[in-house]
Amino acid sequence: MKPRTILLKFRRNGLVMAKLGLLAIGLAAGAKSAQASADYGPAIWNPAYAGHWYTSGNGHKFHVCHDMEGYYLSTISYFKQSGTQASVHYCVNGMKDTTSDAPAGELTQMVLEANYAWHVLCWNTHCTGTEHEGFASNPAWYTDLMYETSTDLARHIAQKFGFPQDRNHIVGHDEKKNAAWVAYANANLGINATCNTHTDPGPNWNWNHYMALVRNILGGSIRDHYNAIGGMNSFLGDPIISETGTPDGIGRYNHFQGGSIYWTPSTGAWSVRGSIRDKWQALGWETSVLGYPTTDENTTPDGIGRYNHFNKNGTLGSIYWTPSLGAHEVHGNIRTFWANQGWETGPLGYPTSDEYAVAQGRRSNFEHGTVTWNSSNNQTTSP
Ligand SMILES: [Zn+2]
Repeated sequence: MKPRTILLKFRRNGLVMAKLGLLAIGLAAGAKSAQASADYGPAIWNPAYAGHWYTSGNGHKFHVCHDMEGYYLSTISYFKQSGTQASVHYCVNGMKDTTSDAPAGELTQMVLEANYAWHVLCWNTHCTGTEHEGFASNPAWYTDLMYETSTDLARHIAQKFGFPQDRNHIVGHDEKKNAAWVAYANANLGINATCNTHTDPGPNWNWNHYMALVRNILGGSIRDHYNAIGGMNSFLGDPIISETGTPDGIGRYNHFQGGSIYWTPSTGAWSVRGSIRDKWQALGWETSVLGYPTTDENTTPDGIGRYNHFNKNGTLGSIYWTPSLGAHEVHGNIRTFWANQGWETGPLGYPTSDEYAVAQGRRSNFEHGTVTWNSSNNQTTSP
């Protein structure tokens, strides 16, 4: 935000403003239907006070991330006031923190991308900017949905204005702390890189996650499942590729630092990780006898084992893992036989092999016996 006296007052009163202002703003917003942004489809268009921007500048060469030190709806209201000598291109909501608040991840555009908002003093005529709901002192405000909305937008802006999607061109209001950027910006961006004194979005802003999301696109149901699992703070961590189609043309997947999510229209989106993922990969991923996952990894009732279930065109399969036995697949008629005996809690215990060929047909080994499917009579037995 632009350092002004009024802003300090706003910050000091942010909580009060939020409590007093949110209901009225929420009602006002609800009374008129949201208007779409002409620049960027996912955004709501709700302009800042008329004329609180420059219509000419030096070209949009980089993008600046701020945090509001305040709340989404009250900050939008603040930028619409005649006395506010500040503006920004976009505002993102971090959390739906009251019942009348907007949804987490909601995006509002307040200044046209072609214009130059007033948010970074001497950088104003060189860049675009996004304000993010929250407080630099508390990382809880920097949510998955907020980062995802913001990085989709940053990617769009970088593509539109043709600047690289890197940390020299996607920066914080506090980027003066980064000596490498200061040197780069002074030499290449035509600005005085240290004219801003603000310290937002601060040390809790997760730049590794932010840039991972800029580079790697999460989509649809996979993103929803990633967020449901816990997103960046879950075992999955950051995406390491963009969402990709499987060779069969049916599924979609994304790999992350700590696992993968696979999706098909019929099976939904599920995560696979660790030794079970390694086994599935070794068998050939979704092209294997197991097909696609139909569960996340679960713990067995004894607290020892872990498993995922899978589905290959209607044939059900699983991978079971324990620390001592490792990971093994079991599927089809042999799996049905084992399941009918109580899975790993039954007399056979955990699988100790994948299914393999024998003279009679197919077989899997278990801790306490074998199960054989006889191809001549389609019978499954455990001797
Ligand atoms: Zn700022």
